[in-house]
Parts: sequence; structure tokens; C-alpha cells
Amino acid sequence: MILLVTGVAGFIGSNFVYYYLKQHKDSKIIGLDSLTYAGNINNLSRLTETEKKRFRFIKGDICDTELIKNIFNENQIYGIINFAAESHVDRSIHNPHIFLKTNVLGTQILLDVFKKNYDESKNMKFLQVSTDEVYGALGATGFFTEKTPLNPHSPYSASKASADLIVQAYHATFGLNINITRCSNNYGPYQFPEKLIPLIINNALIHKVLPVYGDGKQIRDWLYVIDHCRAIDMVFHKAKSGEVYNIGGHNEQENIEIVKKILRKLREKTGDKEINEGLIRYVKDRPGHDKRYGIDPTKIKEDLGWKPQIMFEEGIEITINWYLDNADWISSVISGEYLEFYEKNYGCA
Ligand code: NAD
Repeated sequence: MILLVTGVAGFIGSNFVYYYLKQHKDSKIIGLDSLTYAGNINNLSRLTETEKKRFRFIKGDICDTELIKNIFNENQIYGIINFAAESHVDRSIHNPHIFLKTNVLGTQILLDVFKKNYDESKNMKFLQVSTDEVYGALGATGFFTEKTPLNPHSPYSASKASADLIVQAYHATFGLNINITRCSNNYGPYQFPEKLIPLIINNALIHKVLPVYGDGKQIRDWLYVIDHCRAIDMVFHKAKSGEVYNIGGHNEQENIEIVKKILRKLREKTGDKEINEGLIRYVKDRPGHDKRYGIDPTKIKEDLGWKPQIMFEEGIEITINWYLDNADWISSVISGEYLEFYEKNYGCA
């Protein structure tokens, strides 16, 4: 039996493939990814020879119904974990259409093919990887629980919330075995350098200015990517049908705190005094920018026994070391298209 994992060439999807193949020694994965600007097949080049035998990559789009049908016709697929998405909020403000196409329509197409091949006796499952951003913003207090109403503010989060509703509708209407996970901000190896932590590391190392939105006091709840992967694995194997799980480790920090912490650590590691707070540039805030996200992970702790294993100090150390050791990876993923978008939108290259 084979697991179909989408978005495997992206940040979390590639980390998940490594994690899953190591944890489940007899598992097999088909990894599907259309290799957008954010997808990099080299993210998977470090599979061992034995892992490679249990993994097959297919380049393709989750919106391609015929392709998904063929994958099911030709393989014994028992589950789908859907990571594939357009994932960058800023890009969703510039071009919402592709977000609705991939994130909403793509999810519905996967569900439809899954439904046609659904066999309850085989314990088949569809897991949708969603985000805490579907809940909108918090004030100074309180946390998102699974009962918090969906109130997305960006085209990205609206598309993810829409996908969640479609997944729930396929559970209620057709009785499919589904779960949804909603995780806080992830960080770790293989994250595309348009997201805060790799952007700061990458720019600081080459003394490029560090754009920080507004006053930098937006609060995010950071989780090391492997803790997220472990939670998804537990939900996939242990959760009851129809359940939604929030994933987060109570690690709220202001963006500007994160930036300063990274600068300090990079300066210590490299001895380069030019890596300092003088590189920070406060830029015009993102429209509709949510002030604070914070997850209440009580349900996943109590139902499944999950809790984070890698605290921020350790996780950020691993992450910074990984980017320092993998400068070639950064240059390989920064294409002309990325630089064009970056320079146009942040205006401070
Ligand atoms: P990412 O942008 O790094 O990776 C997305 C991957 O999906 C890329 O490899 C891309 O090529 C692929 N893709 C895009 N459109 C596709 C399509 N139409 N068909 C097939 N493949 C396609 O994103 P990520 O940060 O790894 O996020 C993965 C998932 O986790 C997303 O669904 C995201 O909403 C969710 N999530 C992310 C975070 C986070 O902090 N990064 C937090 C919570 C949830």
C-alpha cells in the first residue's frame, strides 16, 4: 500500500518525506509536485539508497484530474496527505487567482478522485495540511482552539479556509475518512528564502537589508518543522475520522525579536561584525496583516499524546547551522523569478 503525498518538493513536504520514510521502514510514498518556484526537487536528493527504493517522484499538478486518476489506477493508494499549496501571503495579495486554483480547486480534485477510489474497509484517509491563519488574528490574549470560527484575512488564508470547508463537506456528505491539521508558523531546513527566518539568514550573510513589516511587533507562534511532521504522522495514523487538530508549541515571539536573535547568533558564528541591527529596514506594513497568532494545542496533546520535542533555542541553532552549511542550496533555489518578485515588492534589494 502506498501513501500519496503532494507538495513533496516544498519546505514541509520534503521534511515530511524524510521523516516518514525513516519512521515507517516498510512504507512507500508517491510524491507529487508541480515544481513551482517554491518547489525544488533537490530537496529530496538526500534520501538514502534504500529510502529511494520506497519513494517515487511524479512531476504534476494536483489540478490535473486525469493524472490523479491514473496514479490511483496504477497504484494501491491508501491515503493522501495534501501539502501542495501556494503558500506565500504576499504573493496571494498580488495574484489571488492561482491561490484559489491550487489551494481550493486542487484540493477538491484530489478529494473527488479519492472519493471514487474510497474503500472504507482499507481504512483509507485524506489528511489536509492547513494553517492557523484560517482563524484570522488574535488580540493581546487568548488562543486559537479548534472551535474558533474561521475568519481568514488574506487571499492565502481564505483559500486555505475554503479548502478546509470542502474537506469537511466531503466528510459530512460522502462519509470520507478525513482529518485537518492547522499548524502555526514552521521553521527549519529547506524553507524557501522568501519566508521570514531564511530570508533574514540569507540576507544578513550577504549584508543585504532586512525588510521588516510595520513596527515588527507582529506575533507568531513558531514550531520546528519536524515537530509538525510528527504531529501529522500521529493524526494520520491515530485520529478519528472528521477530527481537526491545531498544532503549536506555545512559542510566541515578535517578528523583530526573531530578527535580532538571528543577527546575534549569525554574528557569533561567523565573527562578521557587519551582521548587525543596522541592516534592519522597517517597510510599509502588509495590508490586512494579522497582529497575533497563538495556538492552543490541548486537543492534540490530550487525544494523541503529541507535544513539541525541539524547543526554539535548539531548533533555531539547527536551522542557522543548516543554512550556513548549505549556501549552495540557497543559490540553487533563488531564481530570477524570485529576485524579480522580491525587488519589486520589498523595494530594498
Ligand atoms: P511551500 O511553498 O514550501 O511548498 C509548497 C509545494 O507545493 C511546492 O513544492 C510547490 O511546488 C507545490 N505546489 C504548488 N502548487 C502545486 C500544484 N498545483 N500541484 C502540485 N504541487 C504544487 O509550502 P510549505 O511551507 O511547505 O507549506 C506546505 C503546506 O503546509 C501548505 O499547504 C501550507 O498551507 C501548510 N502550512 C505551512 C506552514 C508554514 O509555516 N510554512 C504552517 C502551517 C501550514
